[in-house]
Amino acid sequence: MRLMSETPTYIGFEEYSEHVPASIPSAVQQATTRFVSGRAARVAEVPEWEDLRQIGSDIRLHTIENMDVYLTQLEEKVLAAGGHVHWAQTADEANRIVLEIANAHDVKLAVKSKSMATEEIGLNHVLEAAGIQAIETDLGEYIIQLAGTGPSHIIVPAVHLKKEEIAAIFSEKLDMNAPADPVELARIAREVLREKFLNAEMGISGGNFLIAETGTLVMVTNEGNGRMCTTMPDLHVAVVGIDKVIPDWESLTVFLRLLARSATGQKLSTYTQFITGPRREAGEFGPKEFHLVLLDNGRSNVLKDPVGREVFKCIRCGACANVCPVYKNVGGFAYGWFISGPIGAILAPQMLGTQTARELPYASTLCGACADVCPVKIPIPTILRHLRRRVAQGDEFAEATLPASIRVTVGLASIALAQNWIYRLGTRVLPALMSIFKRGGWIPRAPYPLSRWTKARPLPPFTANFRGWWKNVRSADSKDARR
Ligand code: SF4
Repeated sequence: MRLMSETPTYIGFEEYSEHVPASIPSAVQQATTRFVSGRAARVAEVPEWEDLRQIGSDIRLHTIENMDVYLTQLEEKVLAAGGHVHWAQTADEANRIVLEIANAHDVKLAVKSKSMATEEIGLNHVLEAAGIQAIETDLGEYIIQLAGTGPSHIIVPAVHLKKEEIAAIFSEKLDMNAPADPVELARIAREVLREKFLNAEMGISGGNFLIAETGTLVMVTNEGNGRMCTTMPDLHVAVVGIDKVIPDWESLTVFLRLLARSATGQKLSTYTQFITGPRREAGEFGPKEFHLVLLDNGRSNVLKDPVGREVFKCIRCGACANVCPVYKNVGGFAYGWFISGPIGAILAPQMLGTQTARELPYASTLCGACADVCPVKIPIPTILRHLRRRVAQGDEFAEATLPASIRVTVGLASIALAQNWIYRLGTRVLPALMSIFKRGGWIPRAPYPLSRWTKARPLPPFTANFRGWWKNVRSADSKDARR
């Protein structure tokens, strides 16, 4: 099964739908329901929650608008603290930089803490191709690395798997008889990974925030693996998107209060780690060498769109996915990219282009639940509608990508809906036409363009006659009124 295992390239819905594992919805619904109630309880404890959201949103917007200033300040501070800074315009460039650093230190084994930026550039596969073993050490990431898939949730990468499925993966890949017991499975992973931590020459991480004021990398985790990755090996390389920069420590206090509550329903995550350059004195913890790779990979282009760029306010809490009725029913792999849920639906079309990920803006009911829970007030439904317009009509940021057949159909439909007589005629002709394809109460196979729908599921026959229905309702109402 190919579920984002090889590279971070986008997989369209049609290809995915042929592979959807049946267990995904129930596993995802169980986990997300727990997160939703946990979040609600923690948020209720903070009376100033709405003010906090507004402050968080304002800080992120201010940073987006002044990103060049804060990135320059960040670079100066990291260099002053003894670290190295590398600017990567593309995924290939970022991979080349990390590989060069690894080769210069004769690295054969690298341990990694959870990093969406390295998922984005497909770093593991590049390192492996160069003969360097890169081991994921976050438990969820370790499980999906063994399974050979990508993450299906931005904070819980293996959310789609039940304990029985994880036990089967461990048994097959680690050549053992692993029980379906979460405590025992965690113990097995810890035992395997401990040896990797002790022998790795390089630690690789992402980062939740970059504080421009002091050049500090902030990592927020719930397992001790992030600390092990960044303190045990003598070399630490952090690959972080340029959008992660924040102005100062005061801003961080706002985001730390918003993040854990929104993500896992905790007051604070178990570990919050601050890394400012390499270790300076003997006896201090930390690596001898610290490299920060600042990843652009299309972000500068997204920043040019005044509507779409609000996506970079995101602090990657995953709350939008947990409440999304679409995500809960299809799981993360259906989004075809390593970031799924509503945030993936507004990020992928902008990063990869609406040519590539044109379906994603439509993968939403526009119910607005995502925007209601977003801790930094990203107007997700507004951005989805904006991206739909870019897909359909094109603008200065993107060519129109909707197929001509659909544009013609929609154009004809808008004429018919505006002209009374055409509409009336249609309500008589369409049911008659569709009865040709009816089998039982459904239409199992319809001609193009409706065949795109019936390939996946049958179509209900067109029986609605709104005007007739409305007439009946009104006459029933007036009869009631006369009684
Ligand atoms: S869009 Fe908002 S709710 Fe979704 S992951 Fe980002 S910060 Fe969290």
